[in-house]
Amino acid sequence: MRDSTVRIGLLLPEVLGTYGDSGNAQVLCKRLQWRGQDAEVVPISLSSPVPSTLDLYLLGGGEDGAQVLAADFLRAATGLRRAAAAGTPVFGVCAGLQILGTRFHGVDGVDHSGLGLLDATTKPASRRAVSELVASPELFDAPLTGFENHQGETTRGPDSAPLGRVVRGTGNGDGTEGAVTGHVIGTYLHGPALARNPALADLLLSWVLGHPPKPLELSEVEVLRAERLSARRSR
Ligand code: GLN
Repeated sequence: MRDSTVRIGLLLPEVLGTYGDSGNAQVLCKRLQWRGQDAEVVPISLSSPVPSTLDLYLLGGGEDGAQVLAADFLRAATGLRRAAAAGTPVFGVCAGLQILGTRFHGVDGVDHSGLGLLDATTKPASRRAVSELVASPELFDAPLTGFENHQGETTRGPDSAPLGRVVRGTGNGDGTEGAVTGHVIGTYLHGPALARNPALADLLLSWVLGHPPKPLELSEVEVLRAERLSARRSR
């Protein structure tokens, strides 16, 4: 166990908080505390510097305008890129995934630079994807569940692996879901994703702690997962 507090950076919740993804920070914090590890959430706003010294960074989803604002801010601030270059885990959802990529083409018709932490580019699809999303993950066994609500269609380059293969829903738009490069993960799963997918939460925590966290039995989470997975299948 670490002797110091794990500090979870929640990036720009005022603009990347539309879809409830800030809950991912609470989930990680609680999963650490329930195992006896001190942890705290450090919100980082548009008026704060971005420290490069936190243990993990989270980005949520947001509307198109908010996404451009967040991308411009995070490119200029550099702290997130420095942390990621040092191997610190980063987890981005939807707009967060698109910002972590190299480029995204907005519905405004303008090409915007991302942070280049994932080898992925995004352009608008002809239809918005609004659905439950189920994917078969590459890095662990438990199926990934969440909901998606996005127009963007994401193409990975060779330096990013998919997070999973789509079973139901759209994901990236090519049968894959999300992107992974080193300790940087992007996904289209809202939910919040880490509440619905404890294996994904614990993968991130294993990177933070340097070893797999000890098992945590939470029957409520299993009930939630079973309900969501069967709800999508019965439609
Ligand atoms: N604006 C982006 C899109 O529509 C991201 C949406 C989101 O974060 N849910 O693709």
